[in-house]
Amino acid sequence: MRIRRAGWLLPFMFFIGTWCGGSASDQKNVLLITIDALRYDHCGCYGYERPTTPCIDSLASRGIVFDQVIVPIPRTVQALATLVTSLDPLDHGVLSLGNRLDDKIQTLADIFFSAGYSTAAIVEHPMQIVETGDNGANLGKGFKRILRTNRPAIEAMKWLKKTPGSFFLWIHLFDPHWKYLPPADCRIFSDPGYNHLRYVKLLKKPKGRIVYQNDWSPSDIRYAVDLYDGEILSADRKVKRLMDSLDPARKTDTYVAVLADHGEGLGEHDYYFDHGEDLHDEIIRIPWVLAGPGMDIIRKRYRHQVSIADVAPTLLDLAGLPVPDTFSGVNLVSRIHAGHEELQPPHPYICGLSDISRIPQNPHAFMSENRGRQRFVRTEKWKLIVIPERDGPEEMMLYDLELDPTERLNRASSNPERVKHLLEKIREFLESHGRWASFLNNSERPMDTDDIKALKSLGYIN
Ligand SMILES: [Zn+2]
Repeated sequence: MRIRRAGWLLPFMFFIGTWCGGSASDQKNVLLITIDALRYDHCGCYGYERPTTPCIDSLASRGIVFDQVIVPIPRTVQALATLVTSLDPLDHGVLSLGNRLDDKIQTLADIFFSAGYSTAAIVEHPMQIVETGDNGANLGKGFKRILRTNRPAIEAMKWLKKTPGSFFLWIHLFDPHWKYLPPADCRIFSDPGYNHLRYVKLLKKPKGRIVYQNDWSPSDIRYAVDLYDGEILSADRKVKRLMDSLDPARKTDTYVAVLADHGEGLGEHDYYFDHGEDLHDEIIRIPWVLAGPGMDIIRKRYRHQVSIADVAPTLLDLAGLPVPDTFSGVNLVSRIHAGHEELQPPHPYICGLSDISRIPQNPHAFMSENRGRQRFVRTEKWKLIVIPERDGPEEMMLYDLELDPTERLNRASSNPERVKHLLEKIREFLESHGRWASFLNNSERPMDTDDIKALKSLGYIN
């Protein structure tokens, strides 16, 4: 679906005027915060019982919560490439760790920069995700200032302080990503009686065995989840420090979007403490909270399924900038207006893929082969996951998301017509992307030593 400006909100038309020649000081700022591996259902504003996200919840109370946000490939670089380009991975070409975003592809930052905004990407990640050189993933394309650092909130505050005028700032926080080791003051959810040294020892096991052959005791797993929640709290505190550092006048002129790049498996489907090679909802569904000027006239929750590709066109429209035709996500501005009636949901179907298998213990591993990628199609009621097998037919997993939101009961065998229909949607999706035919059988670009070093630091390979 191509994107067009909604142009429905008269107050926002004012900002279009400013972009076309008005005072730059009238432009709205945009603060985009991504939190690595943050599960939607571990945030207070999505109903989690623990106080993991007080600051994000506060933003949600002043803005909107998107209930069902889906990523097309649940791995950092691929999903964030979709975020900054509003393109499906099969179109932006960043399909694997080690791929580089093509310089010819227009990014969200390109548009803000052209409109006179100060732009910065300040990210925490062991891989070169924003670097624009040959070894970088090039997701920093369009940002004037690019920084990869282990103290992103502090660096962002410093940048904001010395940057007058309108800004587009992207911050990526790495906290909830494995290994879960939050700062001591954020370990408030953990059992103080549990032997932390035992957990540290468990972390030394090969990652593949932890992910796919997990033999931890229930208390070990509980402790890891408790620490994961502590990591979320740590990220939330960084968001708060950042928000507190904005002076009040600037804060009222700033749209803030907080979302994740993907979720995280915590053992629900025998997939522990990882993401990328599994497509259940705890992995592909992310939180997205949006707050800012004029948000009191919108819905508090948007319940339809949306895509991470929709973030960029929505932010542009809110800021009063035109949305380019190259963006394939849906501009949600008109849809989130409380009085707007929708004839049909923005995405009746969302399709996507897993990453290639990087973990040898993955029982479905086709190492380094694209044809081994799992595929999914998701409606607001049904979800089909297709798992290729090396020998024999593909495995089909069909879930009724309304009756079975945690995806426990595979209904494929009792719903052959439904499976057939959803398989057809996956086929249409793949055929609509010209790259697919060659991509399906191509081997990946060989990883260089930097990639291998980074994957080791992430624990994917030993
Ligand atoms: Zn990630």
